[in-house]
Parts: sequence; structure tokens; C-alpha cells
Amino acid sequence: MRLILLGPPGAGKGTQAQMLVERYGIVQLSTGEMLRAAVKARTPIGLKAKDIMARGDLVPDDIVVAIVADRIEQPDATNGFILDGFPRTVPQAEALDRMLGTRNMSLDGVVELKVDEGSLLRRIENRNAEAVARGEPLRADDNPDTLRKRLEAYRVQTAPLASYYAQQGVLKTVDGMAAIAAVSVAIAEALEPAKRLTQRTGAGPKQPGVRRGGGRETVSRETATSNSVGSKSHT
Ligand code: AMP
Repeated sequence: MRLILLGPPGAGKGTQAQMLVERYGIVQLSTGEMLRAAVKARTPIGLKAKDIMARGDLVPDDIVVAIVADRIEQPDATNGFILDGFPRTVPQAEALDRMLGTRNMSLDGVVELKVDEGSLLRRIENRNAEAVARGEPLRADDNPDTLRKRLEAYRVQTAPLASYYAQQGVLKTVDGMAAIAAVSVAIAEALEPAKRLTQRTGAGPKQPGVRRGGGRETVSRETATSNSVGSKSHT
């Protein structure tokens, strides 16, 4: 399975990505995590990205595209991957299409976590309190000012990707305000047809650009009541 998780900061992408990793035996590729590692290691990319990330802006497309192109070539990604935090702009999505096309691969699904923006700030505050309680350092970009900037970047640059992938027929929209377990079930249901298709066709490369039909679909869990984000990499 090759999947993308779309959603604003605090939507729970990291938490859900971890569950998908276990369910499908694929790797989670988080560009945010990779960039934070580069910043920590003071690599040339890290030095370029550090201030941009601290401001809540997006790192230039060519940098993240190169990181992802390199990462999906690694042996642990052969069985599939879930992209968490990438693509974040239409040029990144187009670069990903080209990247997969030249490798004779295609996407099996794009899951969009729909969340109420008003509650995201509260979620980030909760996540910060939980991190402090665990004795973990806070992320440099998890403060109200930067979060507002990150949300704006999402609205302006990333949200258009929902239409981009709806046009390709691979978008599944899930209610991200539900409880973590309910969101996870909704995602599994949304991906069931893609999973069956993958099992039928095997895990090998697929025809690039295959339309999987259906446009935008919404899956919601009405029974869900709450959501708290308990993982350190839920973005
Ligand atoms: P995240 O952990 O996904 O919230 O990412 C943290 C920060 O890393 C973002 O606010 C951006 O500055 C940067 N970043 C992560 N992924 C990307 C991407 N695909 N394109 C541009 N910047 C990114």
C-alpha cells in the first residue's frame, strides 16, 4: 500500500500513520520528522530548514521532494509507505506523481482527516502538556503564533490537494474529530477497496496514473465522542 495522510497540524496524522504502519506492514515517512532530524544533526538541509520551520513556514519544495525521492528508494519502503506531511503543495504533489510514475508505482489512497480548526489550538496545547508531563522537550514550532502560521500555510498551500486527489479518484475523507480508535476504523473502512485491489494485484509495482474511481468519499464515525492525541509525532 502506498498512502498519503492529509490534514492540518494537530489533526492526528502521526497517530493514525503509526496505526497504518502496524495494520499494513508499511513504513511511515514523515517529512517533518526527517527535517527535525536534519536540524538536530546540523546537516546542510537542516541548517537551511531550521529557521523556516521555527517560523511555521514551508521548507522549499525542491528540498522536501529530494528527501522523499531518496527515502522511497530505501529497502524498507519496498512493501509500501505512508506519507505523513508530504505533499504539502500542488508542485510537491506533481513531483510525487512524476516520482512514482518513473518507478512504475501509483498511490493506493489519500486519506484526508477533516478537523475543526478551532479545536486544533486546544489539541496542540494538550499535546504540549502531555509532552511536558513525559519530560519531553517541546517542538520549537508548537506555540500559538507559529501554529497559526502553520494553519494558514495548510489552508492556502495544502488544502487544495484535496481537490487534486479527488480528481485522481483516490481521495477518502474521514472525520478526524472522532475518537482516535474510531478514526482508525473509519480509515480502515475507507481503504478496504484499495487493500483488496492491492492483495489481488500483489505488492509489486502498479500501472502509474490508474484512476481508482469515485472522486471524494466521506467516512464518518457517528459514535465517536472525543479525541485526544497521545503520540509525540501526531501532526
Ligand atoms: P510537521 O511535523 O509535518 O508538522 O512539519 C513540521 C514543519 O516541517 C512544517 O511546519 C514545515 O516547516 C516543515 N515541513 C514538513 N513537511 C514539509 C513539506 N512537505 N513541505 C514543506 N515543509 C515541510
